Amino acid sequence: MIKSPSSPALRKKILIVNCYLDPSRTAVKRKLKIPQTMTPAYLAGIFAADRCWIKLYDEVYSGPLEDETLLSFPDMLVLTGLNVAFDRMRHITAYAKTKNPKTIVVAGGPAIRALFQYAHKFFDHCCRGDIEQLSEVVEDELGPEYVSREYREHGWVMPRFDLAYWMKLLAYVESSRNCYFRCNYCSLTAEKGFYQPYPIEYLRRQIMQLGTRRLIHFSDNNFASNNKHFVAQRFALLRSLYDQGHILRWAGEVTCDFFLDGDNLKQAAASGCGGLFCGVESFDPGSLTHFNKHQNNCMPQVEMIQTCLQANIPFHYGVVFDFSTRAIAELAAELDFIVNTPEIPLPSFITLAIPLLKTPMFHKCIAERLFLPNLRLRDLDGSTLCLKTIDPLPAAVKFLLKIKTLSGYRKRIIKHIFDFYGIYRKVMAIENIAMSQYGALLLSAPQLFTLESDLSKVLFNHRHNGHRTHVGATECLDPVYRPAFRIDRRYRHFFEPTHLTDANGDICEALQPDLLDA
Ligand code: SF4
Repeated sequence: MIKSPSSPALRKKILIVNCYLDPSRTAVKRKLKIPQTMTPAYLAGIFAADRCWIKLYDEVYSGPLEDETLLSFPDMLVLTGLNVAFDRMRHITAYAKTKNPKTIVVAGGPAIRALFQYAHKFFDHCCRGDIEQLSEVVEDELGPEYVSREYREHGWVMPRFDLAYWMKLLAYVESSRNCYFRCNYCSLTAEKGFYQPYPIEYLRRQIMQLGTRRLIHFSDNNFASNNKHFVAQRFALLRSLYDQGHILRWAGEVTCDFFLDGDNLKQAAASGCGGLFCGVESFDPGSLTHFNKHQNNCMPQVEMIQTCLQANIPFHYGVVFDFSTRAIAELAAELDFIVNTPEIPLPSFITLAIPLLKTPMFHKCIAERLFLPNLRLRDLDGSTLCLKTIDPLPAAVKFLLKIKTLSGYRKRIIKHIFDFYGIYRKVMAIENIAMSQYGALLLSAPQLFTLESDLSKVLFNHRHNGHRTHVGATECLDPVYRPAFRIDRRYRHFFEPTHLTDANGDICEALQPDLLDA
């Protein structure tokens, strides 16, 4: 008897995991975090739906993956995540291989691209290309019939939004890939990819898959686009889908050049834009030059933000503090400027400058011997001091703790919220004013955005795996560095942290072939 393609005997079990280590170094679920990942849904689109039984897992939304049944499930395990998640990819590989040594493990993403040679010690397949490279692995390991027909025939990866259980309220869609700027700290600069707008029909089909009245966040690295033709096509599409009721509201991540063309804001407002995120990073022109972020100096940033808000579009942004190039007094003055300027909303986050692997900033830190000794890759989380600081380290830690919760700024934040309302109440809808203050909530009460799986962890504060120092090397590791169940001895070393620098602050020998080749 010939078996049909969907016969259980022929179906392959696929588990796709977005790996994550939280800056709080605890096992938390960030269900309310925006944005969430979209990558697993796109990776799932590579597989033939009638031949594969596919499950997705997002560690940001669902917390650390320790479910033994799920870890026993896959014939093929696909792992993705940011630089800092490299160790977490190793943990999950150890779990899956302990349960089933025949599981094929495929790893991709920025960490794998940066540590391509080293990564081969842990994963069966390391992908340094884009998501489409997964199709080659699937074809080699399982056969061409396990690659989706849509992809084989049209070259389009249709994301499996239906499997992405974390996209309940907000769906994450991509309309372009990479970026045409070259900021010195950005992993895209390290990867040297070219900016690619997607065909408009491909974008339309992605959105139509979501059904009607959807809230959409465009997770493009750069939604702005320097391609005028594409911008016009995309706004026309958004406008028609908004008018037809397919899109309820949309939001996107833009760069400052988006605001240079006044028509962009008009088009955005007319097509249902409910918010724009822009990487402001700093209000100090010198810092922007230092980051090679000259595009942010092309118009005054406060004026740019005001223009967006006056168009009734909430504006969201993040700020980057670099203790290795700026004195604490300077950073404190910038923070004072932000909380004392009610014409702009408060930032959604304040992060430390992260020397992501193989970026120009990373190589500069090596050349100038700025890395602290005995760092682990896990320490590059934007929340831990990893570089020598201009001021003494204890003073930097004290200020870092202050900005993490904005303690000492609460009264000024409340005043800022009221003053912001007073300025914009006549030009912005009340819901857009409220959305603009999302950043203030995120910053001053980050615990609101955390959902603990175990209440006792909250009550008895057993969440950390040791004493917190907020300094690389001495900072405690996350609880997930202790295996949740017995691991085969061949994989136990997968739970040791990956060391980045040695006792002298030089790149560790094991990573040198990958990191010192530029
Ligand atoms: S503009 Fe944003 S995405 Fe583009 S290189 Fe700079 S940081 Fe990266």
